[in-house]
Amino acid sequence: MTVVTRFAPSPTWYLHIWSLRTVLYNYLFAKKNNWKFMLRIEDTDRSRYVEWSIENLLEVLASVWLIPDEWPNNPWKNWPYLQSERLDIYKKYVDELLKNGTAYYCFCSSKRLEKLREEQKNLWLPTKYDQNCRYLSEDEVKEKLDKGLPYTIRLRVPKNKDVTFEDMIKWKVTVNTKDIDDQVLFKSDWFPTYHLANVIDDHMMEITHVIRWDEWTPSTPKHVLLYESFGWEKPIFAHIPLLLWSDRKKLSKRTWDVSVESYLEKGYLVEAIINYISLLWWNPKSTREMFTIEELISEFKLEDVHKAWAVFDVDRLDWFNSKYLASLDIDLIYNKFITYLKRYDKNFHKTIKDLPEDYNKKILNELKTRIKKFSDFKRLTDFFYEEPWVLEIDLILNEKMKIKNLTTVKQWLNIALWILKDKNNDLKSIESIKNLFIEKIKEEWMKNGQVLWPVRVALSKKEFSPGALELIYIFWREKSIEKIENVLKELK
Ligand code: GLU
Repeated sequence: MTVVTRFAPSPTWYLHIWSLRTVLYNYLFAKKNNWKFMLRIEDTDRSRYVEWSIENLLEVLASVWLIPDEWPNNPWKNWPYLQSERLDIYKKYVDELLKNGTAYYCFCSSKRLEKLREEQKNLWLPTKYDQNCRYLSEDEVKEKLDKGLPYTIRLRVPKNKDVTFEDMIKWKVTVNTKDIDDQVLFKSDWFPTYHLANVIDDHMMEITHVIRWDEWTPSTPKHVLLYESFGWEKPIFAHIPLLLWSDRKKLSKRTWDVSVESYLEKGYLVEAIINYISLLWWNPKSTREMFTIEELISEFKLEDVHKAWAVFDVDRLDWFNSKYLASLDIDLIYNKFITYLKRYDKNFHKTIKDLPEDYNKKILNELKTRIKKFSDFKRLTDFFYEEPWVLEIDLILNEKMKIKNLTTVKQWLNIALWILKDKNNDLKSIESIKNLFIEKIKEEWMKNGQVLWPVRVALSKKEFSPGALELIYIFWREKSIEKIENVLKELK
């Protein structure tokens, strides 16, 4: 089967997390069926238009590897992908509807419509157009047009007819036309409304499957009527359920945390974001949780998308991210980390780039199972990258480990120095460093913690850090010696 899907956002803000899901399902479904996924920009509502959002959208889609096959300004541009560049097309088609009688001119002023709405509201009636202009004669219309009166164009919704469409995710939807308003198709500013432009574009771009979020289900009967008015075959619809925040509230539209970019900025891996988002609504019918994008393409089935709403839970995203950090190759993670810093933390990128790659990689390798995301890294590794600060004496003493006075601390720091300074001692792996220390600790009848605690604190000057052996492995001989000697000086 030829499958052409599309993502058709209105450029009003950053890409939302729930829209990423729409993109993902459109992408997976098209790729699974070996055909096309298109990006079209629905920018006919000029009051909500935000110029930078299109460029930002393209950037974010590229960052999460969901690149459409056709998009605005692509080199093989088949047609304009921005609705604002397609106004002539809509005009031509709406004229066709006027000719075949399925649309009509409406000369009602916005003042009249406002008053009508108020009256209906006061009577607790659904707000609907009262079809005041629906039955104007041809002569009356001509007269008003000749006078140059402003107008809109409305859909002539047939009387008492059941409109039905099948939905691949939800169920069969049937609505009687008595509940459908004579929808405005063309506004007085000469821009089409969403409904008209959306249907014409989906038809012209030969979209076979319209996959979008549930919010558009109530509009779909109007779209079906439009397809019928044009005599076109309608696409197959699939409406994806809502997404709620972990407190079960609807996500607010303008909070930074609901933008995809905020998760890229926090340093989540694309693998984790895509994996988590896909499983939010989609049930692969097994207990398996980790999927690469290629595996998602081959496994994905629109029919297996949940009908119920889903809940976005950052803890689950953290879990996926940790899994990927633990399992991906360190060279790959390192490259991703550098790309991340280049984009989101230029200063720290410079700090890192000035140091040997091997040093940074060792640190990242040690930290990758302790951080949840890249943005946690800097906070936990300051002692690897900043000039040492003054030691807090209370930190190096430790009641629990019976390190009660500085004499023992100094004694053990000196023994550590003695081990480190002996060039015959092999410090090439954490294992060999461990053997050196354990042997010495046994010899002196001490407990591991009593020795390793002061060494660890001397090297990091922090309450929490990787262990002493890991720190020695990363700092290696000279740096470790220098740090311990400095602490001994401080303790004098
Ligand atoms: N422009 C609509 C939106 O941003 C598109 C809905 C659709 O996919 O038909 O939600």
